[in-house]
Amino acid sequence: MIEDIFSLAPYSLKKEEKSAFLLKELKYLTRLHVRDCKSYKNILEAFGYIDKEYQKLEDFFAMPVRLFKEYDISSSSKIFKTLVSSGTTSSKVSKIYLDAQTAQLQTKALVKIMQDFLGKKRLPMLLVESKSIIKNSKMFSARAAGVLGVSNFGRKHTYILDDDMKLNRAALEEFLSRYENEPILIFGFTFMVWKYFFKAIERDNLSIDLSQATLFHSGGWKKLQDEAVSNELFKKSFKNLTSLEKIHNFYGMVEQVGSIFVECEEGHLHTPNFADIIIRDTQTLEPLGFNAQGFIELISTVARSYAGHVLLSEDIGEVLGEDDCACGRMGKYFRVIGRVASAEVRGCSDTYEEKQ
Ligand SMILES: [Zn+2]
Repeated sequence: MIEDIFSLAPYSLKKEEKSAFLLKELKYLTRLHVRDCKSYKNILEAFGYIDKEYQKLEDFFAMPVRLFKEYDISSSSKIFKTLVSSGTTSSKVSKIYLDAQTAQLQTKALVKIMQDFLGKKRLPMLLVESKSIIKNSKMFSARAAGVLGVSNFGRKHTYILDDDMKLNRAALEEFLSRYENEPILIFGFTFMVWKYFFKAIERDNLSIDLSQATLFHSGGWKKLQDEAVSNELFKKSFKNLTSLEKIHNFYGMVEQVGSIFVECEEGHLHTPNFADIIIRDTQTLEPLGFNAQGFIELISTVARSYAGHVLLSEDIGEVLGEDDCACGRMGKYFRVIGRVASAEVRGCSDTYEEKQ
């Protein structure tokens, strides 16, 4: 049962146990979605996967994420929340349909992951966001969903940006003096944290001590690459200016909310028990071994009201190892290198935007 997996520490399963668990779940979910989702069934038929026998995780059809823009992919009649994401190059949006069970599982998954890094106690929380982000509760933007998801891990939420993205210095200073010498949590999207938080502190020469803080941030490096800011520089700059040392980038996508991949103390993104990744060759889509770059396929057992259990992203990454990261967490660990520049997944050139 999927629920049983949440009674374990989130990074505890070794390769054999984990593959066996995931294989069983993926077989079940594939059958379920073929039965309940006509679009998914049609897609599997079109790609020749409909009667396939699945022996290992690599055998499943990895659905290109762009198909969420083309089709309504839903297997539940009890949808109560829809997430939307818009691509930067296309005017079409992905729609992700959540029922109560999937939303609940995603929250549980997120809780298990975050607690592994933060402990069980809810911390006072700074959001590098403006409060107006959370408006429409039926049609969440990916950004708002991310903010709300992570908000659960904090208390005394303080939004430190105005609507025009200016740092609310008074709110920041009041928060920091109130929780001086206490652990606090900071969350924001990578680019916003850099541009509207770090840069504002630097520009205004603020004396800010964040030595007790843990920062979680996510959302792609494209804009920061344009400003020549790498993950290493990002971390070093915060440390030098604010003494903030606990910084965790995380990777994930709106199509699989709940299964996020958090960067450990060694700088590696980790797969939890209930999720995995496979790297595939950008030309042949054959699965690749460690230290080889290709498309990142994401496997998740928490996406259930829609066929989002095996997705092929347009991101390029590489697996660095499995079950042996120096931080002690089990599972594959990897890094994200960038995103394919071409709009087409199949037949695209092998050019991509370098991350570092
Ligand atoms: Zn690690």
